[in-house]
This record gives sequence, structure tokens and C-alpha cells, in this order.
Amino acid sequence: MKKEENKLEKITALAKRRGFVFPGSEIYGGFAGTYDWGPLGTELRRNVVNEWTRAMENHDNMAFLDSSIFTAAKVWEASGHVSDFSDPMVTCNNCHTKFRADHLLDTIGVAADEKMTEPQINILFDEHRAKLHCSVCRKKDFSKVFAKNLMATSTLGKFSEEDQEVYLRAETAQGIFINYKNVLNSGFYSIPFGIAQVGKAFRNEISPRQFLFRKREFEQMEMQYFVSPKEAFVAYEEWKNERMAYYDRLGIKKEKLRWKQHENLVFYAKDAWDIQYEYSFGWNELEGVHYRGDYDLNQHQKFSGVDMTYYDEKTKERYIPHVIETSTGVDRTILMILSDAYKEDEMNGEKRVFLRFKTNIAPIKAAVFPLLKNKSELVKKARDIYKMVKKDIPQIMWDDNGNIGKRYRRQDEIGTPHCITIDFDTIQDDSVTLRARDTGKQKRIKIKEIISHISA
Ligand code: ATP
Repeated sequence: MKKEENKLEKITALAKRRGFVFPGSEIYGGFAGTYDWGPLGTELRRNVVNEWTRAMENHDNMAFLDSSIFTAAKVWEASGHVSDFSDPMVTCNNCHTKFRADHLLDTIGVAADEKMTEPQINILFDEHRAKLHCSVCRKKDFSKVFAKNLMATSTLGKFSEEDQEVYLRAETAQGIFINYKNVLNSGFYSIPFGIAQVGKAFRNEISPRQFLFRKREFEQMEMQYFVSPKEAFVAYEEWKNERMAYYDRLGIKKEKLRWKQHENLVFYAKDAWDIQYEYSFGWNELEGVHYRGDYDLNQHQKFSGVDMTYYDEKTKERYIPHVIETSTGVDRTILMILSDAYKEDEMNGEKRVFLRFKTNIAPIKAAVFPLLKNKSELVKKARDIYKMVKKDIPQIMWDDNGNIGKRYRRQDEIGTPHCITIDFDTIQDDSVTLRARDTGKQKRIKIKEIISHISA
């Protein structure tokens, strides 16, 4: 466990050092729960979003949407977020630090169910209160457990006295539900069909932690599949299979992923499973694949007065479609990819750190080096090759800084699968040295073979 905890620190440090992820507002001392994608993180994020989008496109009848972050407050009243979207919290009576009650209980091996009501979790907390101490001042003196709503708010309006408080969306799913009728009425879709979207979500997480795992501003990739009640269970099984298969495309080790069924279903759900990944701090939720029945559309029908029913031409029945939801996060996916790819080994008697990204995920597919940066004919040839490759494969990098060994180490650290070195032989015979990240093996290939080698 200790070694694995260390791993999160190593990944966090590497991510900053090489420009994957920077702490938010760092020059002002940081801003809890926020991170900024650096140059390589931006590429990595784009690759992840592209893979997810492609997986969704592979499913028949998929519509895409990009709904707004600001919405009418009623959306969140209808969805239940205003009344029920909260975490159980306690305050240290001595130093006033705030904690999540379930996280504190977790430190002594007591699991609090996330569906527990406020009185239930208070009873559980009181049973164990004598064993719990504040991690800041070490005192054993906590308040009662109280619910803290997780919705982040902002204000909008013409003049400050007329400003209205608005909710920032806590999930992208509601944008899909409120547009379900619009998509249907556009005339291109019929049941069963899905609506997929990628977008930012905001949650006032009490204790943002574990690097990218729990942020206050994060990104979701969500899909709601609208299906007839009779076909919903079959569709649910199909989606479960598709979603697990998708992680193979990302190159994730199979034994690090597992299904976990929800023990206590919320009252409206028909079935709910999460895909968990074994992060260095334990098995945790990466994606939810949930069969939500007709709850969401029903709620919006009730609150908006808009008819959400669908007339099924095939069965001659009118019903509110049932919803299968697949919901995952870009940030947790990237933390998983970094954790899964992180490796330390020894090469040529030297310790090295490298990221074993699958090529489709790697932010940089290949780096192009002139052997020496002060020989103009080498640099010119290398530049020509760099430009030629970049036309087909934009995610490549030019690197002429330091000796070749140092350049290899740097590229290994950012997970670049191939390095291409241009030397004096290149000028004579149009061959280059291609070096593979995982093995360090080198071979000579012709310039015209580069693209097929590095896109493999
Ligand atoms: P948890 O129980 O871990 O807080 P959740 O059940 O609240 O997660 P959902 O509401 O189901 O999460 O959100 C769907 C997905 O969005 C999650 O599986 C996760 O990948 C991502 N996600 C949720 N909250 C965060 C967060 N604070 N930071 C980063 N990603 C998040």
C-alpha cells in the first residue's frame, strides 16, 4: 500500500514536470480541487475524448449534443439535485476543519453507505465517534453529521440587486434529458436511440483529493440511451458489454478493472453497476452504467408540464422511454491511464521512468531528432522529415535538446512510442534510426516507411 501511495505522488510530480497537469492557480498559491491541462495533458485529453466519441459513434442511432452549463434552476429541482445531492459532513469543534463523515469512518474501516439518510449516518457516526480524531489538531471532538449540498452556484443578472443565483451543472446528463424531445422532434431519431455529450461539470466537493480523482471542476462523458421498457434489460446488458470492451481500446490492464453492483439501489433505479479501476489508493468508481427506468423524463414532465411520452409505431403503444445511462469522467480516465502506464525499469545500467501508453492514447506518437544540432545539413534533412510526418500524424515532436540519451529518457517519460534519429547515413541512403520506447531496441528503416511504422 505504501509503495502504491508513493506512486500517486510520483505520477503527480511527473505530470507537472513534463507538462501534463498543473495545479490550478498555482502562482497564487493554488485553488483546491482545480487543475489545468498542460500541453501534453491537452493532447492526452483530446485522445481520450476522441476514443470515447468513436465508441459512441460505433453504436447505431447515436445523437451528439453540447448543452449549456447555465440552466434554469427548475432543471435541478426536477432532477432532485437541489434537495438530495449532498455529502455527509462533520466539523472539528476544536480547529473547525471540515471533513466528510464517510471518509473519516473509512479511516477506521467502517463503510457508510452513500444512500444513508442524515439520521442513519448520525447513528453510525455516534457509534464510532470515540475512535475518530481530527487529522489536523488530533482532538476527538466532532460536531453532529449534517448534509452539505454539492451544487456549485454563481450569479447572473443585469444589475447586482436583480442578480439571481444560478446552479452550475453538477452533471451533463440533465442537459440531455431536457433536450430529449428536441432531438426526437428533429426527425432523425426514433426509439431506441442515444444522446451523448462531453462537458464540464461542477461539484462543491468537501474534500477534493487524490489528484485528478475528485475535482471541483471536472469533465464528464455521458450517454443516455432511450429505449422501450420491454427492451431495456437487453439494451442494458449490451451497454455493459460495450463499455467494458471500450477500456481495451485505451490499453488498460484487464485485471485492474472490475464490475461492482450497487448494493442499495435508489428507489427509481432498476439496476446499477459501476466499473471500478484499482487506483493506487484502492478500487474506486471510474464509470457508472445504470438502468434508471423512466424517472428522469417523468420528473421533467412533472416539473415542466411538457409531455415526454413517445408513441411507438412498432408496438402501437405510448410510453415514457426508459433510460440506460453510461457516465464516466475524463479526469478519472486520465488518472487511470497514467497509473496503468507508469513503469520504472533499468536500461543500459540506468534507472528510467516511462509511460507505456497505447499508441492511440499517447500524446506524442513520435519524436524526430537530428543527431547533432549544429550540423546544418542534418538539421535541414530532419526538419524536412519532421514536416512530412506531421502532415499525416500531427501529434509528433521536434527535439534537439541535449544528447541523444537524454532525449530518449525525456520521450520515455512522456510515453512517446517511437524516436526517429536523422544522422549522416540518412543523407546518403534515406534511412533513419527508429527506436522503440518499451524495449529500447533500434532499427534502420527507410524514410518512406516511417508513417506505417509509427501509426501501427
Ligand atoms: P463518487 O461516488 O466517487 O463521488 P459519483 O457516484 O458521485 O462518484 P457520478 O455522479 O456517477 O459520480 O458521476 C459520473 C462520473 O463522473 C464518475 O464515474 C466519475 O468518473 C466522474 N466524476 C464524478 N465526480 C467527480 C469529481 N469530483 N472529480 C472527477 N470526476 C468525477
